[in-house]
Amino acid sequence: MHLILVFFFYGIICCSGSHSAYAPMPRLLLVSFDGFRADYLKKYEFPHLQDFIKDGVLVEDITNAFITKTFPNHYSIVTGLYEESHGIVANEMFDAATNKTFSQFNDKDPFWWNEAVPIWVTNQLQENRTSASAMWPGTDVKIHNTTPHFFMKYDSAIGFNERVENIIAWLNSSNPLVSFATLYWEEPDASGHKYGPEDTKNMIGVLKEVDNLIGLLVEKLKASKLWEEINVIITSDHGMAQCSPDRLIKLDDCIDRNSYTLVDKSPVAAILPKNETYVYNMLKNCSAYMKIYLKEEIPDHYHYHHNKRIQPIILVADEGWTIVQNESLSRLGDHGYDNSLRSMHPFLAAHGPAFRKGYRQNSIYTVDIYPMMCHILGLMPQPNNGTLSHAKCLLADQWCINVPEAIGIVIGVFIVLTTLTCLIIIMKSRTASVHPFSRLQLQEDDDDPLIG
Ligand SMILES: [Zn+2]
Repeated sequence: MHLILVFFFYGIICCSGSHSAYAPMPRLLLVSFDGFRADYLKKYEFPHLQDFIKDGVLVEDITNAFITKTFPNHYSIVTGLYEESHGIVANEMFDAATNKTFSQFNDKDPFWWNEAVPIWVTNQLQENRTSASAMWPGTDVKIHNTTPHFFMKYDSAIGFNERVENIIAWLNSSNPLVSFATLYWEEPDASGHKYGPEDTKNMIGVLKEVDNLIGLLVEKLKASKLWEEINVIITSDHGMAQCSPDRLIKLDDCIDRNSYTLVDKSPVAAILPKNETYVYNMLKNCSAYMKIYLKEEIPDHYHYHHNKRIQPIILVADEGWTIVQNESLSRLGDHGYDNSLRSMHPFLAAHGPAFRKGYRQNSIYTVDIYPMMCHILGLMPQPNNGTLSHAKCLLADQWCINVPEAIGIVIGVFIVLTTLTCLIIIMKSRTASVHPFSRLQLQEDDDDPLIG
């Protein structure tokens, strides 16, 4: 009995997700390969990534946040918030109240980022731990007056090797001990834009290179004895769709460009109109391959409405279509489209002591990654749109039943209860048939005079 109680309490302590004072501090490296479309994993060979997955977990398909662009989704990963809530609603933004603009070349003003608290800030402020970053959108900005303790200013010219060398050096530093780190790489996004995802001849080489970089990262983590200790998540912000010069929507054919400002571009164009009704009416029948929404009409499932940085009119191109004013097609692949499209989805793979081994799951949401990371690090999450239970089957310390198992258990319980009920009924009917004899009682005059 004592032994059972000991195991029971040990179970509660070991599986509660809390970290005892004597346990090593949990550590996590979050890696993004920009524009890594989920089904690249099915169409191309990734020997190093598959090795990584074999002893870890894979989520084959991640439903990311609308709009499926780089800055917004990278911020959703690290905040667990939809774009309307974290405030990075596009790659290019305009704030009418302050007259400020945001772009990938002008992203350092904390004003844009301060509507949310990313995990590297929470890690440093909440638990007095240390964060490090070899580039991730926002990590070189003083968000809530805090940058990661170690970070690099964004520079696309700095190669993957140098980024990894820095990350390894920071993770090896014991004073302070880095518990959360991020690493970002621009491929396969850049080549996906250039060639288009259906150009297998070119993409095969690019994706082989990405796989080699994953191999290099694992090799360096092993060489520095970090591999067994650290949790590593490899994921991405969005996928990529094939575009074509035959699928152009030219706004100049429908409306005078002086009547509006194009704040963010294809495939979700953000329009700031001079006269909203006029611009809406001129554009509403512009193309059968583009949806137009007044801000208040944007469908609820996009979670893309409640923010003043979302412009009054939004144009959403159909998959593979490109919205331009009058230009020719500049790139053969693009993303940003409806987040229900499979071509827009990235994947997630993870390895380390916090994760199960050899487990595969069909899907989670991008916003679920944040509460999972907070759980691993033992951090109290900020309010967010994610759900930890969506990701709990990935985690080694969580009890998890999948749907087939749950159905099996329900059927099993039903069979046991039915059998028990039948047995009780049979027993009762037998008892009932024996009953009359039990009621036979000797009468006083039944005494057999021959006995005694
Ligand atoms: Zn991207």
